[in-house]
Amino acid sequence: MVSILGIPLEDNSSFLKGSVKAPPLIMDAFHSDASNMFAENGINCGDGSLVTDLGNMRLPTGKAAMDSIQKAVCKELDHNHKVVSLGGDHSITFPIIQAYSQSYSDLNILHFDAHPDLYDNFENNPYSHASPFVRIMEKGLVKRLVQVGIRTLNDHQKAQVKRFGVEVIEMKDFDSSLSLTFDGPVYISIDLDGLDPAFAPGVSHHEPGGLSTRKIINIFHQLNGKVVGGDIVEYNPDRDINGVTAVVAAKLLKELLGKMLS
Ligand code: MN
Ligand code: MN
Repeated sequence: MVSILGIPLEDNSSFLKGSVKAPPLIMDAFHSDASNMFAENGINCGDGSLVTDLGNMRLPTGKAAMDSIQKAVCKELDHNHKVVSLGGDHSITFPIIQAYSQSYSDLNILHFDAHPDLYDNFENNPYSHASPFVRIMEKGLVKRLVQVGIRTLNDHQKAQVKRFGVEVIEMKDFDSSLSLTFDGPVYISIDLDGLDPAFAPGVSHHEPGGLSTRKIINIFHQLNGKVVGGDIVEYNPDRDINGVTAVVAAKLLKELLGKMLS
């Protein structure tokens, strides 16, 4: 069973607000009569014995929000449910992984993003959406972090990549036949700005030169490993055009669920 958890948190966004409104809009697109509920690999995401929707969390403010996210994810994992979370900004991935690391000792993360999100200190907010992966790596919560779609490395972040042994597949070096193999469980974190803004305009940080929807789906299909959880973050409806980014998020949600349930 996979639980879908809406996490409407935008407090740690550095540039624009708006992602707090994302989860129900992605779920509306997911359930829209415009499409059916099947992933491309034949899994029926509309099967209530496979997928359950927990709806939107009610979050306290400040650091308490982080603790509350961690607790909510722990509760699902304790019931042997896997979790797909819908953000919110990318700061939610740190407390989610804190929860996952209690159940999975040899976790891998596959992370799609335009940005490596490895700032040691961004605007003095340790929970900034620019820093979740440094918080994860400095605590040693995962054994491997693989980033795909990156196209904004500066000197500081390059040093951070080296410091934590992050495997970065930069967009400039991206090869469409990419096939990734992981030993042990895999968690997939999708920042929608990893996609080119032509495919996903509804994000706060437009960074041209990115992935297509198809390329991300193909990476799922070609991935060797057991996917045990994931998140889709940084959808900003205020920036969207005709809801197209919500539909892209919903499509990636279906394919992620299909991969996890196959
Ligand atoms: Mn990003
Ligand atoms: Mn990000």
